[in-house]
Order: sequence, then structure tokens, then C-alpha cells
Amino acid sequence: MLVVKSIIEMQKISHELKKNGQTLACVPTMGYLHNGHLSLIQKGKELADKVVTTLFVNPTQFAPNEDFARYPRDFDKDYKNAKEAGSDYLFFPDVLEMYPIGFNTTISIKHISEKFEGEFRPGHFDGVATVVAKLFNATNPHIAIFGQKDYQQTLLVKRLVKDLNMPIDIFVAPTLRESNGLAMSSRNTYLSNEDKNTAGIIFTALENAKLAIANGERSRKVINAIMHKILRSVPNVRLDYAASALADSLETPDIFLAGDNVVLLIALYLGKTRLIDNSLIQVPYSNQN
Ligand code: AMP
Repeated sequence: MLVVKSIIEMQKISHELKKNGQTLACVPTMGYLHNGHLSLIQKGKELADKVVTTLFVNPTQFAPNEDFARYPRDFDKDYKNAKEAGSDYLFFPDVLEMYPIGFNTTISIKHISEKFEGEFRPGHFDGVATVVAKLFNATNPHIAIFGQKDYQQTLLVKRLVKDLNMPIDIFVAPTLRESNGLAMSSRNTYLSNEDKNTAGIIFTALENAKLAIANGERSRKVINAIMHKILRSVPNVRLDYAASALADSLETPDIFLAGDNVVLLIALYLGKTRLIDNSLIQVPYSNQN
């Protein structure tokens, strides 16, 4: 696996691959790779001839009070894991390569950026949209793979490539979980073993809300209340949101209709660690009111 630190070198590699008729998949990450990340690299190998994993902890998507400085980093382990998962290139630019002195452009995507994560992390999605556009321009892939774990981000990236006419297919891969249902995340390293056990409650809340929908519940407020009740039973939890919305638009009708694709979204602090998760369900056609 070749480590590439320069944008121009990365662009040349991608250009050569295309000239030789090869396809390239891009897997953007902030590193500290776990099996969830590695499943995206493996998916990339299935979908394209070559895979480039990008490793960049993007400062512009962290607010000043967030964990940029202490975000976990382990280059040697990431190198080994990405290589073993089948990545051909590791694009590993430093901050000045991505944001040289004078850098002054921000990509801002309305609506999707304003709700849920956008509300609780103002500016976050501007940072994400801008860095993803830059990573795409550096790697020029045919396809890019993102995890459903960051559901709102997948909507944002789909909007980005559409709006800016980027000829890149976006593939969304399922969330890998620990045995208690906790979604794998680099930030789980902040959690004690006790907290990791407790954090299984997020999956329980999602599953209970899904069950209610499967059994005929259509009221958004009732669905949200089911998640709230479960999450509030844990003393160490501070909830940002536990909400349901239409999966494509993130709109929040009072009542969901049969056939609607609904996303359940949770963000909370367990102690000082912020965790997010989500689940998708289609409202069944049976049990119609
Ligand atoms: P991150 O390094 O947290 O920015 O994540 C990089 C990519 O990995 C994003 O597309 C995430 O959605 C995806 N990802 C993170 N956690 C998981 C997981 N548990 N399962 C699958 N994909 C994940």
C-alpha cells in the first residue's frame, strides 16, 4: 500500500489508473480504523479495481469546544489495518496540504445541514462538505463509500455530488456493531468498559422504536417518546436528540404514512463522550389506521 501525502501526486495516480481503464473507490476516514472502517475498504475492493483510503482528521469539522486535539490517532496501526483490508493507497495529507495559508472556500449545503447534527454541531457539516469535496478532487474516484453510521453525512454527500456535478457514485455501507449493539466508532476508545456496556441502550432504543413502527405506530411524537423513555432510564446519559424523520428529506411530519422510509436518529453524551447512531425502517402497509 502506497502512502501518498501530496494532492498533486494523488491526482496523478488517479489519472494514470483511469488512463489504464482501472476503477478507483475512495473511502474517506479520520483514522483510528476499526472493523467498521475496514468493512468499507473491503466493500471498495468488491466494487472497484483499486481502493484509496483517506486518513485526515479534518480540523474544520470540529467546533473549538470539541475533541479535535484529543481525537485518537495511530498511524502505524491504521497503515497495517488498511493494508490488510486491501487498500491500495493511503492518502494521508497534513493540515497545510489541505488548507494552505490563504485557503478561503467553504461549501455549505442548506436544509440537510441545518437539522439534528447540524443544530447541535453548528458549522460541522460545512467542514464535512468542504473536506469531502477536496478529498474527491484529490482522489478523483469513480465511487466513494460511506457508512450509514453517519446517516446525515450520507445525505449531505449525495447532495454534494449531485449539486456540484461530480461523477462519483456514493455507496452507503451498513453499520458494524459490537455484540451489545453499540455502533463501532473511533470515539468508543474514550469509553470505560462500563460505559461501553451502558451504551448498548442506544441500540435498544432504536430497536424498540422500530418494533413499535412495525407493530403499527405512526405518530412521530410517540415514536420519539419511546426512545426518550429508554434513554432517560440511564443516569449518565445527556440526550442531544432522539428523533424520527423521513429518511430522504429529514422532514418531520406528525404522522408517518404506510410506505414511508423513516430514519431514527440518536445523539447523546455518555459522560463526556458524544455518540451517534441511527436505524432505518419502512412503515408497513398493514395495520393502517
Ligand atoms: P470516521 O473516521 O468516523 O469519519 O468514519 C469514516 C467512515 O467510516 C464514515 O463513512 C463512517 O460513516 C464510517 N463508519 C464509522 N463507523 C462505522 C461503523 N460502525 N460501521 C460502518 N461504517 C462506519
